[in-house]
Amino acid sequence: MSELDRREFLGSVAAGVAAVAASGSRAEASELTAPAFRPLPLGSIRPEGWLLRQLRLQRDGLTGHLDEFWPDVAESQWFGGAAEGWERAPYWLDGAIPLAFLLDDAGLKARLASRVGHIVAQQRPDGWYAPYPEDAGAKPYDLWAILLANKALVQYHEATGDARVLEAVRKSLRALLAGLSRTPLFDWGRFRWYEGLVPALYVYERTREAWLLELARTLRAQGVDFEALYRTEDVTLPTPRRGLWKWTKHVVNTAMAAKASALSWRLDQRPGDRAFAHRMIEILDRHHGQATGMFSGDECLAGRNPLQGTELCAVVEFLYSLETLFCVFGDPWFADRLERVAYNALPATFAPDMWSHQYDQQANQVQCVVNPEHLFTTNGPESNIFGLEPNFGCCTANMHQGWPKLAAHLWMKTEDEGLVAAAYAPCRVSFASRGVPVTVAVATDYPFRETLAITVQPERSAAFPLVLRVPTWAEGATVRVGTGAEQPMQAGSLHRVAREWSGETTLAVRFPMQAKLSVRYNEAVAVERGPLVYSLLIDEEWTRIHADKPQRELPHGDFEVRPKAPWNYGLLLDANHPEASLLFEERPVGAQPFSPLGAGMVARAKGRRIAAWKLAHGWAGEISRADSAWAHAPAAGSLGSVEEVSLVPYGCTNIRITEFPRFDPGTEGA
Ligand SMILES: [Zn+2]
Repeated sequence: MSELDRREFLGSVAAGVAAVAASGSRAEASELTAPAFRPLPLGSIRPEGWLLRQLRLQRDGLTGHLDEFWPDVAESQWFGGAAEGWERAPYWLDGAIPLAFLLDDAGLKARLASRVGHIVAQQRPDGWYAPYPEDAGAKPYDLWAILLANKALVQYHEATGDARVLEAVRKSLRALLAGLSRTPLFDWGRFRWYEGLVPALYVYERTREAWLLELARTLRAQGVDFEALYRTEDVTLPTPRRGLWKWTKHVVNTAMAAKASALSWRLDQRPGDRAFAHRMIEILDRHHGQATGMFSGDECLAGRNPLQGTELCAVVEFLYSLETLFCVFGDPWFADRLERVAYNALPATFAPDMWSHQYDQQANQVQCVVNPEHLFTTNGPESNIFGLEPNFGCCTANMHQGWPKLAAHLWMKTEDEGLVAAAYAPCRVSFASRGVPVTVAVATDYPFRETLAITVQPERSAAFPLVLRVPTWAEGATVRVGTGAEQPMQAGSLHRVAREWSGETTLAVRFPMQAKLSVRYNEAVAVERGPLVYSLLIDEEWTRIHADKPQRELPHGDFEVRPKAPWNYGLLLDANHPEASLLFEERPVGAQPFSPLGAGMVARAKGRRIAAWKLAHGWAGEISRADSAWAHAPAAGSLGSVEEVSLVPYGCTNIRITEFPRFDPGTEGA
């Protein structure tokens, strides 16, 4: 593409690069607005219980081994090798760094010290990192990977305090600012400009150098204006099957960009940024929303059909965006969504041992096979198999940040020296309130259970608030502080427990979980309870494929998954009283918490098989009211008799049905 063509193409997306850049913003305020809440320094939160098991699975799976055998990380140009030298090694660092410090894993920390040390040592005097060509600042060179590498490196600085790393990032950002004046952002850099604000604001808060805010504003001015983009039809229309790949509809760009407004808001508090943060997600829900709280994109935005895929990169990026949105705006709405995505879409797309993953997951996914007849928009036939690098290796590089960043953002600091819960999982938090060291321990099997015991223990008496996020679904939530009386908490609020803490105080928290149905595509229904979505448990069979392909030695092989039992059930559910049709049973949360056998909660339901619902194109054929007759009088012989079926949390399944045809138990006779 010539320079002229590219400018014309990009110009059609939003306001022209040159015009926006020329308007400048040096005169704007030079102070940065504080976020509503401050993330705690990496290492302050330690995982416990099922979360510790999950992070250890991740360390013992791909994340802790990719740098030993996968060429694009092991032999990356970032680390002095000859393989890929762009986004893949920085992506891996972005997740491996927080994982190593959350687990305090000496081996992984030592390897990271060596890898990060290499990047810093090889940085050129002009500030460009080694993989970039000598003239990177003068020639058109997509700067996206520089933004990403610096975002990963500031985490390393936060965890270690290594001044060389902070200085390397500072020098790189300085080179970036000079480079942008010669060659404005284009392609990936232009759609991901806000990633550069993460390191720029981080360094600014430590150095107060005004040019860092100038850099942030320059990135914003040269980058895509998403608020303008989301006023167009471009993002609302689903991409057709085998449709056109577009920057504007790219699902990973979309998931990353969800935080752009929050980072931008910190620069100058434009009211539009705050409003757009909600509006963008609402538009995505309306046109592309999935039961997991994600939106489809395989790999371009693909509508609400549960057969469409969602790319793993988009899941982990949306999680980080939601963590940022809650941190900056302090609105629990974003944190509700964070849990929904983290406890459903994230674990589902990995094999339970975290040695393999999918590129695309589907809400109704009854088999994962290499399938040339696939329904995806622009992805290929291998996109839903579990493997080392199905379809394309970006997710193999980028998947690592999901769990660790969630764990690192479970609790944040309030401006009045207290602590706020963003999301709930078993953990232990260490922080200081006005100089007094405090530990807060969360004992729970949430999200598989509705109770939590939160123990606060300051080193000496200290007054500060503990702020509990009360999920929007948690009607009737209560907290009992120590031996005090049970207090009600308002669903959807941030509940403050402000007091003088001394000794050891336990808060007994209850978030009542009620079964609920949500009406989805083609009026099918999904079953929800608390933050979890429930899917049909289908007996499954794994088949190893590609055994002769490079790097597919076990345990990091490629697999197809097929159903060994019927899946084409509609459920008998009372729309007004779903709890009457579902029997929830607690199970121990397993060694692999997100696996069919490890599911900490199982629901019994009644279903009928629908003969007309078949495999089409290798997927669960789309069920519609017309062909299933499920909302009308069923054709004779088209429905099976009533059977008992099991539902487990979506995140515990590898194949599943999540959006079900519904029968009324009153007329169908259970
Ligand atoms: Zn990806």
